[in-house]
Amino acid sequence: MPSPPAESTADGCAFCAILAGTLPASLVHEDDQVIAFMDLRQAVPGHVLVVPRRHVDTLFDLDEDTAAHLMRIAVRIARAADAAFAPDGLNLWQSNRAAGGQEVPHVHLHVQPRMSGDGMLRIYPEGAPAPTPFVTLDRMASELRIALARDQTRP
Ligand SMILES: [Zn+2]
Repeated sequence: MPSPPAESTADGCAFCAILAGTLPASLVHEDDQVIAFMDLRQAVPGHVLVVPRRHVDTLFDLDEDTAAHLMRIAVRIARAADAAFAPDGLNLWQSNRAAGGQEVPHVHLHVQPRMSGDGMLRIYPEGAPAPTPFVTLDRMASELRIALARDQTRP
């Protein structure tokens, strides 16, 4: 697969190896910031990974311009998957750290066409939880507003 060198790499990272051309991949899209290729393990048919060229472990370290472009390309690929495979639905899936189900520590978005009854990723396998009281929701929202304000003022 022809590809310019990655902006930065991490030893042992499978996605950096794909970006460097030392591991094969079935290419869907590439530009100066992002590459998209078929997931080797097709959780569902048409499963694509969208990956920034620069090695960043998780979403927490991703710069906002790259994040915006990653989403832009994911949306385009979602539309292409809808046209190419006519799925019943589609998920964008993004995982961080082991507890979040992240398997490759190079930030990425999954584009997963879905078919009714395909058995993938049920959000509430035991049924939706009861509504949370607003006193609890308001407390969590307040904690997030404080963290957001700190984030916007960091250098
Ligand atoms: Zn990497």
